[in-house]
Amino acid sequence: MQKGKIDVKTENIFPIIKKFLYSDHEIFLRELISNAVDATRKLKTLASVGDYKSELGDLTIHVRKDEKKKTLTISDRGVGMTADEIKKYINQIAFSSAEDFLERYKDKAEAIIGHFGLGFYSSFMVAEKVEIFTKSYLDDAKAVKWTCDGSPKYTIEEIEKEDVGTDVVLHIADDSEEFLEDNRILDLLRKYCRFLPVPIAFGMEKEWKDGKEVETGKMRIINDTEPLWTKKPANLKDEDYEKFYRDLYPMNEPPLFYIHLNVDYPFNLTGILYFPKIKSNFEIQKNKIQLYANQVFVTDSVEGIVPEFLTLLHGVIDSPDIPLNVSRSYLQSDSNVKKISSHITKKVSDRLNEIFKSDRNKFEEKWDDLKIFIEYGMLTDEKFYERAEKFALLKNADNKYFTFAEYEKMIKENQTDKHKNLVYLYATDTEKQYSFIEAARQKGYDVLLMDGQLDTHFINHLETKFKNSRFVRVDADVVDKLIQKDEPADSKLSATQQNDLSVVFKSLLPDKPLFTVSVENMGETDNPVTITQSEFMRRMKDMSATGGGMGFYGDMPDSYNLVVNSNHPLIIKLAEDKDKAAGKELAKIEEKTAPVKSSKEELEKSNKSKKDEEVSQEDKDRLDDLNKKLEDLEDKREARLRKFAEDNKLVKQLIDLALLSNNMLKGKDLSKFVKRSIDLM
Ligand code: ADP
Ligand code: MG
Repeated sequence: MQKGKIDVKTENIFPIIKKFLYSDHEIFLRELISNAVDATRKLKTLASVGDYKSELGDLTIHVRKDEKKKTLTISDRGVGMTADEIKKYINQIAFSSAEDFLERYKDKAEAIIGHFGLGFYSSFMVAEKVEIFTKSYLDDAKAVKWTCDGSPKYTIEEIEKEDVGTDVVLHIADDSEEFLEDNRILDLLRKYCRFLPVPIAFGMEKEWKDGKEVETGKMRIINDTEPLWTKKPANLKDEDYEKFYRDLYPMNEPPLFYIHLNVDYPFNLTGILYFPKIKSNFEIQKNKIQLYANQVFVTDSVEGIVPEFLTLLHGVIDSPDIPLNVSRSYLQSDSNVKKISSHITKKVSDRLNEIFKSDRNKFEEKWDDLKIFIEYGMLTDEKFYERAEKFALLKNADNKYFTFAEYEKMIKENQTDKHKNLVYLYATDTEKQYSFIEAARQKGYDVLLMDGQLDTHFINHLETKFKNSRFVRVDADVVDKLIQKDEPADSKLSATQQNDLSVVFKSLLPDKPLFTVSVENMGETDNPVTITQSEFMRRMKDMSATGGGMGFYGDMPDSYNLVVNSNHPLIIKLAEDKDKAAGKELAKIEEKTAPVKSSKEELEKSNKSKKDEEVSQEDKDRLDDLNKKLEDLEDKREARLRKFAEDNKLVKQLIDLALLSNNMLKGKDLSKFVKRSIDLM
């Protein structure tokens, strides 16, 4: 027997590493099994080129545990190691790299956590002693046993071993006994080894018999050695992709589309990405893409490797070119990783474009589900925007789909305003905004449906992209003013009548939300009264609700505008009724108001060029007095108009109708409205 001391300067390196890596202990199994897989593949390669001439036989890798001895053994029938190789690869390289690692990260526990793959060495995170029994494939090689208890001392001795290959025996430490539990081992194998290219056996296959689970006597193979992504796309059918998706995510609905990635230049990358079907609410399921390196599971947090918006996709990516033994931040700045990321973006948009071109119907059918990914991508990734521009769709309120270019062409003629801006009208709810949509349709306008979770942001984004264009929600104004063309029509009412009417309506509006009233000259057939909400204010509120950093606007009360159509017969009649009922009294008030107003104007005129302190006290007092008189007269006028409004059932009825068509009439007010309507009949 030979004894030796591993050349490490730091004594007892293991306990330190073990402490640092507490969160990642489980990776030891992945590391040992991938070493076994590597050794097996090497032997296969040697055999295929004729450098290994014996039978290969069954190359299954076995994981066995012995509960009494508290050991976990990983056995392979790969290339094995000679004593010299053990010294070189295990003692020097594996250990020196560990030492090196410790040196580098001494002060940065965080950098160590999240560091993948310490290789063979990671076995000491769970074992107090590790033995290697190995026999090299070389003709005259002697089998050897290597033992190490975690201190830098090891022993190495010759043994008898029949088969070529390696058994690594872990004597599991007391604090790691969980790794001797069947279920824990099975979970880890399924997580890390599910798609390894060499069969891995653990325990026996079980089946249900007479209500009990019994072992069948057949080895349980835990992995699929030829996962779908490693196969040629040309030989696969849609069903194969759907089945693979079900295997990966048994609980999910079938995916919308899949993309088979298969690149070998300038880097190696295979994989299958799926567009999942996202149910009604915005359930972001990030971390559903699994990253593999040569079929070894590495991680399922792929931020930084695939573009942000694609982390919403599902599936697998496999690349031996992604460096694994580095920290996450290093990974994100790696140039290979960056190339991979932009390549995936390109592949995804190519594939979508292909489906769009070859089967537009299918594409449109899935658009509503797909839209969130594409909008997210277009919002966050400039390159993707440029590509997606060609196939991204807009849907209108009649459920028809258009590309950006098609839509622009369609509305250009009719929806360009007098400032040569193209106005995109949109609705967010076809039910609630029904009357506005109808009014727009009557004018021959088209209305888009923008009801997606990201649409508020997306609209802002499109406005920065589309030249000379703006988006206006159909209820942002009365239809004539949504897209201003020529000068508005003449009014059939005088300015005084218009002023009076706005007071009449204002006097019966609810206190909340905030209302302003305006009288507009619209068409005779347009609604007599309409409630609109300013595009700007509403958007600011929407943005602050979806976290756009517009906190101030979020705190503002909702504010609406009640628009009275001065050309509608009912409104004209109302103006006439008002004149009949209150005309004389209002004229008297006006008679008194006129001289006060002109005295005030005169006074102001004579003091116009003076500074505040130069105005005489006498004049100041007179001005106060005149203002007070005007206020009193105005109060009188308003009181009279309010009385008219209250006596006249039509005003309240018109207001309620407008509220009703905006879904704003509720509870007590609604039942009052119903009663009043019945009375009116
Ligand atoms: P890596 O796998 O990154 O090379 P490891 O620390 O996992 O680093 O392993 C170090 C070396 O030990 C391997 O490169 C290999 O030469 C050798 N080795 C480890 N496990 C086995 C095994 N099961 N069979 C043959 N050689 C092995
Ligand atoms: Mg390794």
